[in-house]
Amino acid sequence: MSKIQMTTPLVEMDGDEMTRILWQMIKDELINPFIDLKSEYYDLGLEHRNETDDQVTKDAAEATAKYGVAVKCATITPNAARMDEYDLKQMWKSPNGTIRSMLDGTVFRAPIVVNGIDPVVKNWDKPITIARHAYGDIYKATEIMVPEAGKAELVFTSSSGNVTSEVIHEFDGPGVLMGQHNTEKSIKSFAVSCFEYALSTKQDLWFSTKDTISKKYDHTFKDIFQELYASKYREQFKEAGIEYFYTLIDDAVARVMKSRGGFIWALKNYDGDVMSDMISSAFGSLAMMTSVLVSPAGVYEYEAAHGTVQRHYYRYLKGEQTSTNPVATIFAWTGALRKRGELDSLKDLCDFADKLEKAVTDTIEDGLMTGDLAHITSLENPKVLNSTEFIKAIAERMG
Ligand code: NAP
Ligand code: MG
Repeated sequence: MSKIQMTTPLVEMDGDEMTRILWQMIKDELINPFIDLKSEYYDLGLEHRNETDDQVTKDAAEATAKYGVAVKCATITPNAARMDEYDLKQMWKSPNGTIRSMLDGTVFRAPIVVNGIDPVVKNWDKPITIARHAYGDIYKATEIMVPEAGKAELVFTSSSGNVTSEVIHEFDGPGVLMGQHNTEKSIKSFAVSCFEYALSTKQDLWFSTKDTISKKYDHTFKDIFQELYASKYREQFKEAGIEYFYTLIDDAVARVMKSRGGFIWALKNYDGDVMSDMISSAFGSLAMMTSVLVSPAGVYEYEAAHGTVQRHYYRYLKGEQTSTNPVATIFAWTGALRKRGELDSLKDLCDFADKLEKAVTDTIEDGLMTGDLAHITSLENPKVLNSTEFIKAIAERMG
């Protein structure tokens, strides 16, 4: 059998711990036997990030901007314990944060839907994709403790010297204060990424804020989305047979619960933080959640939403076979290969991605799965496999 050929390299970012082990197994069993893989490899494992003073992360992000598509393994974000464990020169920043800020992207998270792993909300028969704005609001807020009575004011001094001010509140006793901000540039990038991703995946786009209460702040988000839609995307959406609609956050929550799924829900930073945890737990498992970073320039970086599964890795190091779920990492590969295929007009590559995804879902639907899924499946008598056996069972279905 001749292998599928590629024309442009895929940016491959290796990672840490258990997911690094899965990464190699996936390549050996599910990718390399079928594809003449053209990849530009970056080792984002913590040891190599430390050796290169984290330059490798920046190089990987630049390569992603250059080639347009990347696939990334989960990586450790160092904390105090990791400083000792890996004898680090510095507490390096989160690679995802570094890459996201260099590409100015938005993260879209979507569950992998399989028969037998049923969402808590029984009418959700298609995935719901969450798009979370990842800049500003309470995450970059300034807070003050108010110790006693007094007047709080919001003051803006423009670079040309104009001063605007508003009284926030006349305190008659202690309280608290918070100042939030966002920028037009960041909101626009977010909106562009959302519209582009909706077109790319042919799904409706919903956006919700609380603009009835926040008549300037949230309303600005609503207006930016609306202006962009009207000036740039309305026709393209019509051609693609999809729609954009804005609604209040509370109305959106009610509609989401009654929906069948199959759309993208764009949310402000805090709303997205909360709702993505709700959606992922309601769909079943973090190990079945994919994640893609989409930049306004149309660059895509695919990964699993979960971390490096540290606890399983320590068991692996002791020589135990673990039943770690590789599904989201496999789907990161298929997502990236399919996008590469679309951009380079390589139908074989797109078909391969579809076939591998089907082999994964067929394996689970046949009752063969990792331990995390066996706990929650509605299928009777599931067979629990370790990671190696599960990946081999998928490979068998690839023929
Ligand atoms: P985690 O790796 O997502 O794992 C948390 C727990 O969830 C695991 O202990 C396991 O539960 C379960 N789990 C997650 N993925 C699984 C899978 N594929 N198969 C089976 N079970 C799975 O989160 P963490 O332990 O908080 O973080 C570990 C490291 O990952 C940290 O260093 C963190 O910085 C990093 N991290 C990286 C990313 C990223 O690169 N995108 C994201 C998040 C965290 P049981 O142990 O009960 O089986
Ligand atoms: Mg959260």
